Amino acid sequence: MAMTPLKNLMKFAPAAVVLAAGAALITSLSVSCFSAQGEKKNRTAPTGYRDTPVLPGQKWRVHDIDRPRPPMVTPAPFDRPWLPPSDAIILFDGKDLSKWTARGKGKNRGEPVEPRWKVENGYMEVVGGTGDLVSKEKFGDCQLHVEWAAPAEIEGTSQWRGNSGVMLMGRYEMQILDSWNNPTYADGQAGAIYGQWPPLVNASRKPGEWQTFDIFFEAPRFKDGKLVKPAYVTIIHNGVLVHHHQEILGPVAHRKYNFYTPHEPEEPLVLQDHDTKVRFRNIWIRRLKGYDQQ
Ligand code: MG
Repeated sequence: MAMTPLKNLMKFAPAAVVLAAGAALITSLSVSCFSAQGEKKNRTAPTGYRDTPVLPGQKWRVHDIDRPRPPMVTPAPFDRPWLPPSDAIILFDGKDLSKWTARGKGKNRGEPVEPRWKVENGYMEVVGGTGDLVSKEKFGDCQLHVEWAAPAEIEGTSQWRGNSGVMLMGRYEMQILDSWNNPTYADGQAGAIYGQWPPLVNASRKPGEWQTFDIFFEAPRFKDGKLVKPAYVTIIHNGVLVHHHQEILGPVAHRKYNFYTPHEPEEPLVLQDHDTKVRFRNIWIRRLKGYDQQ
């Protein structure tokens, strides 16, 4: 039997009612959704608390409103993370050696003398025999960024291939070496805490290529002429972790080991002249303070 248009309408009426009700519901949901978004814009939260438990071993409460906020530091641009952040001290920007002296040799042995490493094209290069570079400023706990390159042309073997070093506090050597297919003792290759600990892995690039060290260093602590806490170091070589909060046994030595002897809380940073043409660029350092220090 053919249905009249009215009958047709009646047949679909319940569905129409459901649709209308549905539309109304959607409309009301959207309205409530919009109003919730409006409320979200104006939500407020406490900026801290004074009624929470005191943290074990700390003077501060959980979420303590009185705890000092960390100082702001502007980081390097996202696409150039190797550049210094705003609170870094620039030790070498590719232009001059104004932040450095050299450690004299011969009749000036140990005395500060004018540095004579070569500076050109945005890098400096070791001039063998002119002496270690010694920073004019002194540092203890620090974050240090160093870029270096071993000579592109391979000369010599083992420890004569691109040898230099970053001497923290002038005495704890983080080894620089061309460790690309270069057989040598493990605790003397690139990234080693020289004579003590090899790097966890060999993350070396080829000779002539720029490499990075990011060093996080905790200076040793002395009291009444005695060691109360050894030095610790974390090193990232070319983005790869090669030491993780590793204890340093004492000052660098060759074919023996040294014990700590007391020194100042801050000492100069030293770059080693090992008579090979290692290059450096983009050297910056940040003093590390403790938590809650401004
Ligand atoms: Mg060395």
